[in-house]
Amino acid sequence: MSEDIAQLAERLDEAQRIVVFTGAGISTESGIPDFRSPGGIWTKMAPIEFGDFVASAEMRKEAWRRRFAMEEMFATVTPNVGHKAVADLVSRGRASHVITQNIDNLHQDSGVPAEQVIELHGNTRYAKCLDCGARAELEPIRKHFEKTGEPPECQFCAGMLKTATISFGQSMPELEMARAESATRACDLFLVLGSSLVVYPAAGFPLLAKRRGATLVIINREETPQDEFADLVLHAQIGPTLRGAVDRLSAR
Ligand SMILES: [Zn+2]
Repeated sequence: MSEDIAQLAERLDEAQRIVVFTGAGISTESGIPDFRSPGGIWTKMAPIEFGDFVASAEMRKEAWRRRFAMEEMFATVTPNVGHKAVADLVSRGRASHVITQNIDNLHQDSGVPAEQVIELHGNTRYAKCLDCGARAELEPIRKHFEKTGEPPECQFCAGMLKTATISFGQSMPELEMARAESATRACDLFLVLGSSLVVYPAAGFPLLAKRRGATLVIINREETPQDEFADLVLHAQIGPTLRGAVDRLSAR
């Protein structure tokens, strides 16, 4: 293990501009279940597709029921040692951006400035109007939903509200995809943390970085289909591994 940490620290120390890319594996260390994993929610209960959400008030109610069933968990989870080590890479100027597939807001909660977090799959901690794009907070929506049982409407335009996540069948956010691409093109080290690298188009970014000549480092408990392209692969827990490496970085 200490040899792994030393190798990781050496790679991180050589880099001028790191991009961190995170998936479910960093947040499972905070106690958030991985919906896609074997035994995860999506193997028991099919996710609601975007088209069905828009077409059916019953589906919208079901979506909100499911979301609020998880509210206690989302409202109480906190960033773990891995999130904090990532935040240190950003605050020390080593990492320019954190691209995340996670929807839990834990990178922002750990202190990474929101403008340096790129959320490819959106954010479940607030809602957005599908018509006018206005942001809406969840707590008033929950109260309204518990009282009336009806799916919520936008207070400005009466449009449909949905958590600010990207659902199956919903197009990827153009601005975030463009930001992720330009950050990836500009980095000299691309650090994958806790992603199985099977969900595209997100999983295309490590390959883009590698093609552009960046060093590719993958830390994930399981093997990934991109391990063979990486310069360093650690099948390890993220928190202690990354913390150990960040603590060894030279002062700059
Ligand atoms: Zn609206």
